[in-house]
Amino acid sequence: MKFIDIKILKLIIIFILFSALLSIVYVMVEYRTFTGPNFSHTVNGDFTYLESFFQEEPEEMLTSISSSTTPEVKVPIIIYHSVRPYILGESILQDRFDITPALFERQLAYLQKHGFTTISPDELARDIKLGTTTPTIKPVMLSFDDGWENQYKYAFPLLKKYHMIATFYVYSNPIDKNRPSYLSWDQLREMSAAGMIIGSHTLSHPLFRNLTVPEIKNEIVKSKKVIESEIGKPVVNFAQPFGYSSPGIEALIKEAGYKTARGTFKGVYHSQADLYNLQGYFTSDNFNDFVYILSR
Ligand SMILES: [Zn+2]
Repeated sequence: MKFIDIKILKLIIIFILFSALLSIVYVMVEYRTFTGPNFSHTVNGDFTYLESFFQEEPEEMLTSISSSTTPEVKVPIIIYHSVRPYILGESILQDRFDITPALFERQLAYLQKHGFTTISPDELARDIKLGTTTPTIKPVMLSFDDGWENQYKYAFPLLKKYHMIATFYVYSNPIDKNRPSYLSWDQLREMSAAGMIIGSHTLSHPLFRNLTVPEIKNEIVKSKKVIESEIGKPVVNFAQPFGYSSPGIEALIKEAGYKTARGTFKGVYHSQADLYNLQGYFTSDNFNDFVYILSR
């Protein structure tokens, strides 16, 4: 009997070790491009999981370096990527930051039921300047990254249905280049005309850490011009790819004529000091996370 127990124990240990090994291999394969030499060019489009690496919580630090004399304003910013039906067989990691249209609608219905108002980055900038969100009742900012076509297909109709607005941060290089998973300029123009805000997320979605200052500047300045010429409206809101920022990068964004920039640090309070690195939360598959963010 004891002999069998040991045998089973050995089998369990081997199974655990094998599972651990598989997980390590999986993670290495999943993120192989993250440390690769041509990281920004080799990743084939979907940056969602990589961006999540940069979501940290420096709230204390950001609060303490705030130089503003106006009070901080509380506005939850929700960061979305793909909104699409679940694909059978995909891993938890692949699906983690994408939500289904049904869950997105549940979130919008919650916002409506609880009296939230969706606001634009411009309105947030105004509120930060004034030090108050009044008279807006329960403001929240919805934002979508990376310009996926599914945002037009699934999120945009629901936003219209609930009379809500969102900001779509797109990077311009893949648009209208025969890449159907990306939004087209026609779709972006239609969304803009319907009240959605189109912001810049650079030209090529690079990791700024790997670029020279002139290259960073080009990504920030040129994308603004490209998007403006296509949608026919000023583009004054920016989002750093992967949320990667620095005081120097923020100065370049400001100098280019943007009024705000959204980063990916977690937090709901905003001051003048973080106007060019606004904090937000990645959405998740868990509805309770959404409720929690709004209640912070
Ligand atoms: Zn992105």
